[in-house]
Amino acid sequence: MISLDEARVHVLDRVDVLPPVVRASDEAAGTVLAAPVVAADAVPPFDNTAMDGYALQAADTAEPPTVLEVVGTLAAGADPAGIEVRAGQAVRIMTGAALPAGADAVVMVEATEPVDGGARVRIGVTARPGDHVRRAGEDIRPGDVVIDAGTTLTPVHLGVLASIGVRSVQVVPRPRVGVLSTGDELVEGETPLRPGQLRDSNRHALYALLRADGFDAVDLGLVRDDRDAVAAAIRHAAATCDALLTSGGVSMGDFDEVKAVLAEIADDMRWMQIAIRPAKPFAFGTVEGVPVFGLPGNPVSSLVSYELLARPALRKRGGHPPHDLHRPRLRATAAEPLRRRPDGKVAFLRVIVEVDGGVLTARSAGGQGSHQLAAMGNANGLAVLPDGDGVDTGGDVEVIVTGELRARYG
Ligand code: AMP
Ligand code: MG
Repeated sequence: MISLDEARVHVLDRVDVLPPVVRASDEAAGTVLAAPVVAADAVPPFDNTAMDGYALQAADTAEPPTVLEVVGTLAAGADPAGIEVRAGQAVRIMTGAALPAGADAVVMVEATEPVDGGARVRIGVTARPGDHVRRAGEDIRPGDVVIDAGTTLTPVHLGVLASIGVRSVQVVPRPRVGVLSTGDELVEGETPLRPGQLRDSNRHALYALLRADGFDAVDLGLVRDDRDAVAAAIRHAAATCDALLTSGGVSMGDFDEVKAVLAEIADDMRWMQIAIRPAKPFAFGTVEGVPVFGLPGNPVSSLVSYELLARPALRKRGGHPPHDLHRPRLRATAAEPLRRRPDGKVAFLRVIVEVDGGVLTARSAGGQGSHQLAAMGNANGLAVLPDGDGVDTGGDVEVIVTGELRARYG
């Protein structure tokens, strides 16, 4: 058996980042920027007012109240050319409008009162230079690196890109990831099961996980435990996808064909026995440069294997930098005894992680067998239990939060 770390390093070393492409900015949320974005323009582009009010010279307001002559009105979007504020004058101004020449401050409308039907204005406060003025370039200056390469673009970034008029960006594309299930026992859909048959669940869960994790999932169907059929399916995936997830066929059985086929057609196929429970068996190889992740068939094992081994590598393929591949491990308190047996492996228990008074707690999501998928459906995390017999109530335990954190009630 090898450690999880060793298996991860082996896999990550053999997965290459996809070549960058140019994408419309608005289609790029969730992808990783491949080249820094540099601003050509300042944001805001000009000095402007943060308030509806009056633009004036702060020095005029030293001893309030002051009555000033109103010499113009500036709406947002209006060109301020030709409007100037001199001593004793003010300009009515709306939020976002350019500050007129001569003015150095804005007094908000709530602190003013029109005089002579608006020809003059009474200012009730003392303004300081710069009050309610947003300076040109306070958000972004021309030449600034606005977003660094390696950044995962968020919806907010798309707003930032729009603010500087950048309509396309160089990003690493979302990896196209094929997913297929193997197993003669597997069937699809509602048809009644014949003796020995089982419904394929892995492909459906993995497909949805891939999408939820921001990859382009491709359903490559169900493949028989037949060497030629498995080889054809893997070759097809290598020709049409950026990575492939298979499930089943990587254990010690007589018909574990994924392992056998990868040994034949993959460069550097490695079959691993990883010191973790669940998800001990795992096969990895590259076919035509396309990484193939041979996940185990047991439903819980395949999903844990995806989470711990495939997901970080697919993130690397999609351009995420080394510090952004693995989920963080957080410290939680066991809300009940979390038990395991000593076996030389690290156990990943499926748990419900809740926030209780600002502290994370973890309790079992239910049955911990690698075939008990329904219990895993309740889980939003994995508790990492080193070899031994687990932790008692109140003990510290590391958790990996894989779903939405929930507040604890009752
Ligand atoms: P294998 O790794 O192919 O030996 O499969 C291990 C166990 O997982 C067996 O009990 C299989 O029936 C089961 N299994 C394999 N693939 C799937 C699948 N796609 N959906 C549900 N169960 C599966
Ligand atoms: Mg099988």
